[in-house]
Amino acid sequence: MIKYSFLLLLLPAVSSAQSKMDFETYNPPSTLVVPAHKLTKAKFPFIDVHNHQYSMPDMDLSRLIKDMDQLNMKIMVNLSGSSGDQLKRAADNIKTHYPKRFIVFANINFDGVGAPGWGEKAAKQLETDVRNGANGLKIFKNLGFSVKDINGKRVTVDDPRLDPVWKKAGELKIPVLIHTADPKSFWDPLDASNERWLELVTHPGRKRDATNPVPWDTLIGEQHRLFLKHKNTTFIAAHFGWYPNDLEKLSALLDAMPNVVVEFGAVIAELGRQPHTAKKFFTRYQDRILFGKDSWVPEEYATYFRVLETADEYFPYHKKYHAFWAMYGMELPDPILKKIYYKNALRIIPNLDKTLFPE
Ligand SMILES: [Zn+2]
Repeated sequence: MIKYSFLLLLLPAVSSAQSKMDFETYNPPSTLVVPAHKLTKAKFPFIDVHNHQYSMPDMDLSRLIKDMDQLNMKIMVNLSGSSGDQLKRAADNIKTHYPKRFIVFANINFDGVGAPGWGEKAAKQLETDVRNGANGLKIFKNLGFSVKDINGKRVTVDDPRLDPVWKKAGELKIPVLIHTADPKSFWDPLDASNERWLELVTHPGRKRDATNPVPWDTLIGEQHRLFLKHKNTTFIAAHFGWYPNDLEKLSALLDAMPNVVVEFGAVIAELGRQPHTAKKFFTRYQDRILFGKDSWVPEEYATYFRVLETADEYFPYHKKYHAFWAMYGMELPDPILKKIYYKNALRIIPNLDKTLFPE
């Protein structure tokens, strides 16, 4: 009897609006009091190897420079260089205004795969683009997803008809930054057990299945066969090769493929939830990791710096649909930070000005 009346007193105190709310609304600021280091600037000058600027031929680069200087970004690698005239005009704009601060990567036009001599023609175009100022090649995820040959068949990432392109990149000693597939969760059932549920609900176009176009493992397998086949070409696997949440697997891949390095664009939230495992990985593969961010939102770099540099605990990530969990810092030592921020990129990407960086 006493128990019952106690319950009656309690129940009305919580209205149904307070006891039920949607996942996005529930976002309580942490009450944890611990040291916090909100970094707006990297400790060392850095090179962002994964950036996209779509109007570089005509844009006023000084606008970018202002934001870059605030972040301590010394060199921005624009992966959206296109090819032909567009690429040349982007490279010329850089040469005229900020020759040391920007790098462009070329892209491949996949129209006509299957026509006789397509591969040789594409390789020749790449050679021209490099002569005109490109310092790398970026392959977008449309290869594997939507690129079709002249017969309407999906072109696989490891399609041998593309081999002349990878071979040419190796000869020219330029890296190939390649993004294949998307997070595996995009293929998984859209239910309460999917960690990317919020992203898929807010971006329904990202949901895939085994027929759209193929299972995740198929695409990733194609990418790995490409890496293994072209050992004289350096590949930068974008987004940690979509294994940022399984660093043991990624370690095995890097051990098997010495021509591959990785960058962590858009996946820092995976590293920030496993600071101990990630620190071990960064220590072991300190020569194989490059700094990349992907989307150009200057305020968001703060999360990257904080995960890499500090020992901060339980701090927020900037996008709930990537991570509804909190971040922890890895507190990487200076010699490793320097490699991640610039030394590895200086080794892998040609024509970067080393004098912009400390020893
Ligand atoms: Zn990208």
